[in-house]
Amino acid sequence: MAKQDYYEILGVPRDASQEEIKKAYRRLARQYHPDVNKEPGAEERFKDINEAYRVLGDPETRSQYDQFGHAAFENGGFGQGFGGFGDFGFGFEDLGDIFADMFFGGSTARRQRRPRKGADIRVSLTIEFDEAAFGVEKHVEVSRTEICAHCHGNQAEPGTPLKTCPDCGGSGQVRSVQRTVFGQIQTSRTCSRCGGEGKVFEMPCKVCQGRGTVQAAKKISVKIPAGIDDGQVVRVGGQGEAGSYGGPYGDLLAVVHVKPHEFFARRGNDIVCEVPISFVQAALGDEIDVPTLEGDVKMRIPEGTQSGRVFRLRGKGITDVRGFGRGDQLVQVNVVTPTKLTPRQKQILREFAKASDESLPNETKSFFGKVKDAFR
Ligand SMILES: [Zn+2]
Ligand SMILES: [Zn+2]
Repeated sequence: MAKQDYYEILGVPRDASQEEIKKAYRRLARQYHPDVNKEPGAEERFKDINEAYRVLGDPETRSQYDQFGHAAFENGGFGQGFGGFGDFGFGFEDLGDIFADMFFGGSTARRQRRPRKGADIRVSLTIEFDEAAFGVEKHVEVSRTEICAHCHGNQAEPGTPLKTCPDCGGSGQVRSVQRTVFGQIQTSRTCSRCGGEGKVFEMPCKVCQGRGTVQAAKKISVKIPAGIDDGQVVRVGGQGEAGSYGGPYGDLLAVVHVKPHEFFARRGNDIVCEVPISFVQAALGDEIDVPTLEGDVKMRIPEGTQSGRVFRLRGKGITDVRGFGRGDQLVQVNVVTPTKLTPRQKQILREFAKASDESLPNETKSFFGKVKDAFR
């Protein structure tokens, strides 16, 4: 059975904003959550909704889906071999937030000090056709937040003492009493000042002024796999922005643009090119030199080749980006009609025409005249 369109599952138009998608997802997830909805089929529906959101909720995977449809994530997913979309780049903290919002009404207490993965950084990389075919390593320089090396993200100046948190008195929890119709209810939540640690620092780190992170320029190496195509994305894990509260770094996403080649064009994993040959070569056959990605190769033109015929050079195409073999090179030969003939060449051609019982252009009637003759 064909898979249902992710946009249809979430009931949003294809040009919906990320915010609209998130809203639609929250509404549906609440409606079909198995803890809430016991109707038959609800659980299946809930799974579909989650799957759709996992893809459409992230602009990166959404764009892959827009381009390639479900195929983008089948067979292990597009670009999985190079750390691509296998994990969908979708942090569990996002889902955690959504469910916390659903069941706890979106309070702020739960957000504190939970490790969060840093944001991804997107860069654009332009490479040559040959580099795309064989793979290449590129370097990009980005400005990103990094964990402060001086305080290791602790925010305190190393060697200075910590003091008991004045807000919670060191317990890490803040209690409050609420009056309700059922009487007094005591609630406690994690102290926001110390994040539940019970201690705060006296002197902030001199290097990062207590932020725990610094802005830094970083040179990052991006290994682009052989066979990458224009518009595909290479993910470099852990080279994005610093995470917060001990969370991991985000990723670097390099969107690859491949420059067109003067001679080759790409069609899937095959490359196509056109080669001119003379009408004598076409008629009598010949062996010609054809450029490939790895230098010239000899190619045999058989006798009586028609203009436009395509020859296949096996295995001279592009390596499949997922490692499934290599494409071919398709060579289309175009017969070139000579334009500047010497009197001697013209003479030979007239003799050739006579020998093949062909009428000559300037000696006989037009083609249409001949057709009329035939019906007389
Ligand atoms: Zn610091
Ligand atoms: Zn505290």
